[in-house]
Amino acid sequence: MKQVYIFSTHPLFGGCVEALLSGDEGLRILGREKDLIKAIEQIRVLQPDVIIVDSNDFEASRALAMNCVLKEGLQPRVVGLNVRDNKFIVCKTQLGTIKELKDFLETVKSENNSDKQVSTLDGFGRTLDYLRVSVTDRCNLRCVYCMPPSGVPYKPRDAILHSEEIARMIEAAAGIGFRTIRLTGGEPLVRKNIVGLVRRLAAISGIAELTMTTNGTLLSSYANDLADAGLKRVNISLDSLRADRFRRITRQGNLESVWQGIKAAEAAGLTPLKINMVVIRRFNDDEVIDFARLTLDHPWHVRFIEVMPVAGAMDWGPNMPDIDNRLLTAAEIQNRLQELGELLPEDGPSGHGPAHYMRLPNAQGTIGFINAMSQHFCGACNRMRLTADGYLRPCLFSDQGVNCKSALADGASIGELQSLIRQAGRIKPQQRSLLNDPVNGLAMSTIGG
Ligand code: SAM
Ligand code: SF4
Repeated sequence: MKQVYIFSTHPLFGGCVEALLSGDEGLRILGREKDLIKAIEQIRVLQPDVIIVDSNDFEASRALAMNCVLKEGLQPRVVGLNVRDNKFIVCKTQLGTIKELKDFLETVKSENNSDKQVSTLDGFGRTLDYLRVSVTDRCNLRCVYCMPPSGVPYKPRDAILHSEEIARMIEAAAGIGFRTIRLTGGEPLVRKNIVGLVRRLAAISGIAELTMTTNGTLLSSYANDLADAGLKRVNISLDSLRADRFRRITRQGNLESVWQGIKAAEAAGLTPLKINMVVIRRFNDDEVIDFARLTLDHPWHVRFIEVMPVAGAMDWGPNMPDIDNRLLTAAEIQNRLQELGELLPEDGPSGHGPAHYMRLPNAQGTIGFINAMSQHFCGACNRMRLTADGYLRPCLFSDQGVNCKSALADGASIGELQSLIRQAGRIKPQQRSLLNDPVNGLAMSTIGG
């Protein structure tokens, strides 16, 4: 059954249209409203297939059409109808008679729901189809660039989304075009029953890829079970190949455990494997060649990430580079890699992201660069983030978010959750730069990297 919503600032109009459609078993009238703001809010929640507007009140109808179709990226067709002279307009341009309106609605009714294209657009026309989900704010490491030595104060357990709440959010997202889910944290593998959560999420229809970003320290114990539960692949964060440095940068990590994790992930088929190195001038930048060499003999995708300033992790303590001397840009890294041979541009492995890829001659794997600081990749950004405590964050570099925890606790329907996701999409900024904009007040471990 197709769902219709009626909007007119004139009270008689709604009644006339309702009378016109009454008794039609293929149509359901979801609501009728005369206040523009209320109509826009209700349409966000109800998501009708067709909105019938009063073309007598052209300005209000046009504002509704602009909001719901263009700005919201919603799918309904807007049909304008002028009852007085039996004319209607479709999408503000075509004029016709009531008979034509009825024919139009017959066509809509005969459409197969599954053919309906569903997607989520932000306010700038970008399609959002990638959700990063922070499943915990806890971590077993204290990387200097991510957290203060004492860690980030943990949220109380009841503030963190339950597995079923995460699953509901992902079901809602899948229904409006999100196709890739990446689990992150904190450290996702410290979440209790992470394998059960992965199994639950992998069963959600519409999700093409379920992946994880991990520090790898616990991966050797989990890799097989995660693969069995439906996880497709992992990204492993690793910033040094030297045990002493690894410990200094993570404050408490053991490099060997990460190597075991990498081997276990490969053996379990959690591939193609990506290794993310945050490059820091005068700390680990002399290892970029060694990291790049890993791609010669392994089918790994080594990605160099420009270090970002993160609230709560600005001062790294004695004998560490200070904030003004840490950044090594992707261009500088690429320059240094020339000594290994000519780097050729490459499509890169599957997966969505801001990295651009290159390959060394005869290398099995590729080299990626994520220049979060030196270049904008906002134009192609397809991401949204869900924090462990249930905030949808449309931009890593912005404090703005939409609280979903209370809606979930109140038993919100999938449609209502989808409306919150679309709402978050609408506040996604067009572009942010850490060089020009103030640092986000949230720790990286909270927002999910
Ligand atoms: N604990 C997991 C891990 O380390 O892979 C997942 C969460 S972590 C916040 C996600 C990613 O954010 C990691 O690859 C980490 O290196 C990166 N990250 C954290 N702080 C960063 C910073 N200040 N600059 C650049 N990348 C950062
Ligand atoms: Fe933990 Fe990952 Fe942050 Fe390191 S980068 S402290 S492993 S959340």
